[in-house]
Amino acid sequence: MIILMKKNASKEQIQSVVDVLGDHGLGANVSPGTEATVIGILGDKSKLGCIDLALMDGVDDCVPIMHSYKLASRDMCPQGRTVEIGGEVFGGEKLIVIGGPCAVENEESILQSAAGVKAAGATFLRGGAYKPRTSPYSFQGMEVEGLKLLRKAGDTYGLKVVSEIVAHEQLEDAAKYVDMIQIGARNMQNFQLLKEVGRSKIPVILKRGIANTIEEWLDAAEYILSEGNLNVVLCERGIRTFETATRNTLDVSAVPVVKERSCLPVIIDPSHAAGKMKYVKPLSLAGIAAGADGLIVEVHYNAKIAISDAAQQLSPQDFAELLAKVRELAPVVGRSL
Ligand code: PEP
Ligand code: MN
Repeated sequence: MIILMKKNASKEQIQSVVDVLGDHGLGANVSPGTEATVIGILGDKSKLGCIDLALMDGVDDCVPIMHSYKLASRDMCPQGRTVEIGGEVFGGEKLIVIGGPCAVENEESILQSAAGVKAAGATFLRGGAYKPRTSPYSFQGMEVEGLKLLRKAGDTYGLKVVSEIVAHEQLEDAAKYVDMIQIGARNMQNFQLLKEVGRSKIPVILKRGIANTIEEWLDAAEYILSEGNLNVVLCERGIRTFETATRNTLDVSAVPVVKERSCLPVIIDPSHAAGKMKYVKPLSLAGIAAGADGLIVEVHYNAKIAISDAAQQLSPQDFAELLAKVRELAPVVGRSL
């Protein structure tokens, strides 16, 4: 349930509501909106017994939330949440672009790719160090050494860095070297990982699972949020369908649906959706046109020799051309790059 306070409700009236919730073992998420403050009740509201919060001073209305997720819901934070990392804001007017290779492969490679990502105008560098590969015989990533090289490349070119972790034991190392972690599609419902990431305050990209509904995705986000970490950015990366022309099917419609149901920023990964570099540009533009807050794109300085996902990684030049198009499109949907 959420409590809508009256427009002119005083600080004391808001605090009284929070206190009553606290007295009954319930948490409160206070969201001061432009119109009025919204208070979300965290926990089992039956603990309130017969107390009618609607009768309290300053309360305008009490509205039930129909979803199992609360902090992730738009009702709780109608103006939308933003995630800020060193001046870069996901969910603001400016689109955020993340570029970089599928995996950190060696020092020279990540430095060269980072140079291209920076030159194109992106502000974040990606690069996997713990790779969730389909086959156990495929390259599994450079692990901590990869994180260190990613950090070095980011620092060299003034880029913030993001990398995936696949187990909660990797969180401590990742937090030392990256600005943001990614939870990949295969781990969207790794609830132990979600809880640990929730207990840390590290910003996180939560990708949609390969065969998960939007509701399951938002429930997964709630695991992180409910542990106290509000720095969650969602990422649509394509879902498994009967279509084989692309690696996955980018669910563009997920963007407006998520924007309606959830307050969290959402970005698009056109690379893992497409699986082929020639489709990356149109899918990126479709995602931005649909209202996404940014992109995460695989970029390799020489994709022909990439160890993983070679077919879908853009050259730095193609990436720069893509961003030039995004820059043209952005104002049409009220954004900038
Ligand atoms: C990745 O970003 O390299 C990756 C493995 O992504 P996904 O989890 O979307 O497959
Ligand atoms: Mn990849």
